[in-house]
Amino acid sequence: MKRSEFLKQSLVLAGASVVLPSFAAPVAESFSLPALPYAFDALEPHIDRLTMEIHHDRHHKAYVDNLNKALPGTTKTLEEILASVSTQPVAVRNNGGGHWNHSFFWKVLGPANGSKPSAALAKQIDTDFGSFDAFKAEFTKAATSRFGSGWAWLIKKEGKLVISSTPNQDNPLMDVVEVKGQPILALDVWEHAYYLKYMNKRADYIAAFWNLVNWDFVSTNFLN
Ligand code: MN
Repeated sequence: MKRSEFLKQSLVLAGASVVLPSFAAPVAESFSLPALPYAFDALEPHIDRLTMEIHHDRHHKAYVDNLNKALPGTTKTLEEILASVSTQPVAVRNNGGGHWNHSFFWKVLGPANGSKPSAALAKQIDTDFGSFDAFKAEFTKAATSRFGSGWAWLIKKEGKLVISSTPNQDNPLMDVVEVKGQPILALDVWEHAYYLKYMNKRADYIAAFWNLVNWDFVSTNFLN
């Protein structure tokens, strides 16, 4: 028996409720992969099970693992880190953004359930874009025209709703981006988000996305 196991077992036998010595405890990691809030196949047929498995279990996990390597044992929140990400190595920008963006995106999505924007959000969309259809068209254009890998965003900025897009894993919480604000809604347009089912047809993936928006979550973001 290893010394650490012996110590653990001795503590259990003694019925002691004590904190294990640090050499016997697993190494603490600052950031962890959140569970997907629904089954991998819950977004079918719009987003397929295999895409969700790979996207969550491999891509998102890699961002978390690489963020922990780049920033071991930080005491800051991820939001604090992103707000001053210009002072960090590029690995923190890429993987910290990747972790935040995907954690948010899983909640933006949900099984198609007919949810609608709250009255307050619907009113603000009409005020800032003219109509819901005009908003949808502008967001779709931002997502379609983002060249290469990146994200489309609906953000709250000084009380108004604004659509933007970012390259790579940048997001509107970062001090390095052109258009900053509080994310309300997001769409991942990296090829890994849709290529297995939609191949080169990003526009079809974006059209399918509208069936999966969890407007209850999005409406709550608008209140915050
Ligand atoms: Mn992704």
